[in-house]
Amino acid sequence: MKYAAKRVENINLSQIRKMFSKGGPNAINLALGEPDFNTPPHILDSLKNALDNNYTHYSQNKGDIELREAITNKLSKDNNIKTTPEDIIVTVGASEALYSSIQALVNPNDDVLIPNPGFLSYKECVTLAGGNPIEVNTTIENDFKTTVDDVQKSLTNNTKAIVMNSPCNPTGAVMDKEDIKAIADIATDKDIIIIADEIYEKIIYNKKHYSFQAYTDNAITINGFSKAYAMTGLRSGYCSSNSEIIDEILKVHQYNVACVDTATQKACTTALTSSQQCVNDMRNEFEKRRNLVVESLNNMGLECSNPDGAFYVFFHAGNSQEFIEKALTEDVILVPGLAFGSMGREYVRLSYAQSYKNLEKAMKRLEKVVV
Ligand code: PLP
Repeated sequence: MKYAAKRVENINLSQIRKMFSKGGPNAINLALGEPDFNTPPHILDSLKNALDNNYTHYSQNKGDIELREAITNKLSKDNNIKTTPEDIIVTVGASEALYSSIQALVNPNDDVLIPNPGFLSYKECVTLAGGNPIEVNTTIENDFKTTVDDVQKSLTNNTKAIVMNSPCNPTGAVMDKEDIKAIADIATDKDIIIIADEIYEKIIYNKKHYSFQAYTDNAITINGFSKAYAMTGLRSGYCSSNSEIIDEILKVHQYNVACVDTATQKACTTALTSSQQCVNDMRNEFEKRRNLVVESLNNMGLECSNPDGAFYVFFHAGNSQEFIEKALTEDVILVPGLAFGSMGREYVRLSYAQSYKNLEKAMKRLEKVVV
């Protein structure tokens, strides 16, 4: 394309979005990466109240101070991260936190480790910054968990940063504490920055979530409100790191997009400072659905790990493209594993962000694809 800047030329458009438009009127969409729940009413009330009270003006560049205080408290209580509101930036979703962090840190030709399979933005954000994405492979034999050995094998002399994602999209894998701590030690020793995408932190089953930033100063914690509070369209997230790194990220943030809108920031403060029962209820419902889907896929002879978090199952389908197309003829929409990196070639991602009833129906339909 003659108009494209060199760094944009090789960027891929999202394979997931492409799937959104597929299927007939009765199709069950298991490609969606967003909770199918409504935003909890007390959060919506807070947003409406903020608008009624004219919270419609600029907020501080790093974000509303009340919200940054709430995030600081949350990080201390849930993640054992001791920080201050000055070292937090409120961002337009976790997506902006990822983009701004990578733009702020990565020089052309720096190597950046990314999980494989992994969320598709990582590779493209690194490429947009001129860096080299280096895939850290994970396998179904280890339930797709990234280990310290996997990271060590992928390190180069030129590694600037490591992107980690636990619980993981697309596999649902939750990393073990020992690996998180050991990878954090590598980051400290070798002066490498860990960019820890923790957006699925609250959707986790019978396991505990650990944060890299609790073990090293060389980490950026990325989190947000999209998944835990079913607020994907309100575009709100944040990042936390040491002051030196935050000052650099702020430069990108400031000239990229100013801020999450002020009223939404009020709603985010309410989300963090009120009862977390809505989060627990959603998590419990997701766990029931995970059990249904994993059991059904196993009964069909489709190999999958038992994911400990997020709302995805990544199952082995052999010829995944053929599987996806057959599933489409049965009105089930899925995403090919290859969209998430080369390790996904023979796999399919299924999102169970759909009602239990629809999932039961979808499983019956998939039985016809398997025979
Ligand atoms: N990180 C991962 C792993 C995701 O799956 C997603 C969304 O699907 C994001 C980040 C983006 O989150 P947000 O909606 O907060 O921008």
